[in-house]
Amino acid sequence: MGEGATDVGSASRAIFDAACAVIPGGVNSATRAVGAPWAFTRAEGARMWDADGREYLDYHAAFGAILLGHCDPRVDEPVRETIGRIDLTGYGVTELEVEYGRLVCESIASVDTSLATNTGTEATLQAVRLARAITGRRYVVKFQGNFHGWHDAVARNVISPPERAYKLDPLSAGILPDAFAATLIAEYNDVGSVQALFDEYPEQIAAVIFEAIPHNVGALLPTREFSDGLRELTRREGALLICDEVITGFRHGLGGYQAVLELEPDLTTFGKGIANGYPVAGIGGRRELMERFSSAGGDVVVAGTFNGHAVGMAAAVATMTHLRDHGDDFYPRVHALGARMREGLQRIADELGIAATAAGFGSVFCLYFMDGPIRGYRDLMRNDDAAYVAFHRRMTERGILMLPLSLKRNHVSDAHTEEDVDRTLEVAEEVLRELAEEGVLA
Ligand code: PMP
Repeated sequence: MGEGATDVGSASRAIFDAACAVIPGGVNSATRAVGAPWAFTRAEGARMWDADGREYLDYHAAFGAILLGHCDPRVDEPVRETIGRIDLTGYGVTELEVEYGRLVCESIASVDTSLATNTGTEATLQAVRLARAITGRRYVVKFQGNFHGWHDAVARNVISPPERAYKLDPLSAGILPDAFAATLIAEYNDVGSVQALFDEYPEQIAAVIFEAIPHNVGALLPTREFSDGLRELTRREGALLICDEVITGFRHGLGGYQAVLELEPDLTTFGKGIANGYPVAGIGGRRELMERFSSAGGDVVVAGTFNGHAVGMAAAVATMTHLRDHGDDFYPRVHALGARMREGLQRIADELGIAATAAGFGSVFCLYFMDGPIRGYRDLMRNDDAAYVAFHRRMTERGILMLPLSLKRNHVSDAHTEEDVDRTLEVAEEVLRELAEEGVLA
């Protein structure tokens, strides 16, 4: 099959067509129909099935939210038990919320207290707002290629116009120009670029927000010099350091990637893997900062009808409890699977003489279609996006599901096996060889 339309089955097509009549573009979130308009009907463990009954080995993992595996009974059983007992009270607090809060605070060293939200976007929105309230300052600094959700305060991505080819900038039409102007962009792994902004906007920057690992462009690993430098600089300049661990939190370790970096941010945002696919996210940090959110005397308002919903809390408590009690098995196992995948992909590319770089950390892997070294976002401009699109399409057609977007990452879960990884590598070798022979790859 060429690189034209992907072969989507007739049942998927029919459901997608019906979706288009009632949902703009047929999907409820951006990028879900990139590549092809599938309709899925079942998900279990490391696999999903589409409406035509085709089986896929899933590394998309719902953008990384699936950490233990789809419909994992270790999470779903406590959720089922909860559903019959309590749902949403809308008043006061539940014991489940206390248990959830306790587990979050025990897991992440820099978090004394935390608040539950439903999405990572709400968490980063609250983090930026809190930083502005605490400092009384206007600007927020974020980094090229980092993504923190879709609200106005973080809807900017690139420093200079030519780089806009890669991403929409601003992220969406309708973004308030004032919010866009109040978001400053620096270069990841370059503390000097942040210092330059502090010099340009003295005592006007409320916070620096960064992805612990920018998995939204695959896997640019932060250098220690960078993370230590951000800590020192923000402290010196009186700004807050917000570590966004929405992808890395709980996935890369119970304490997040900040534990690997031995970093103590002021605020941390987390989500996705914390509840193995249920809609839970949160913000946490030092007690005295978080007190500004307190409904007893604080002045930064947090409101949300569904915050702390019993279903999400039960899922998060079950997931975190499992990671706490079985982390000694879980983390080495999924990290080894990730390493097996990265090493295998790199070996295949090298043997075929393809300019490709396998990157990642722990259970996360990606394949860039370019040579290294890759230190910053600007290096990624050299990536061959068309090659990734062709690779992705042919992998999907052979039943291996990855993120459809070039420069994104993929994930193994506890449900994947060595056999799954080895089969994936066999298919990848077949696809890469085919693309090399057809001259699609450099
Ligand atoms: N931060 C990061 C690092 C993310 O990757 C995402 C989502 N991909 C978000 C925040 C926003 O989370 P959500 O989609 O749950 O709103």
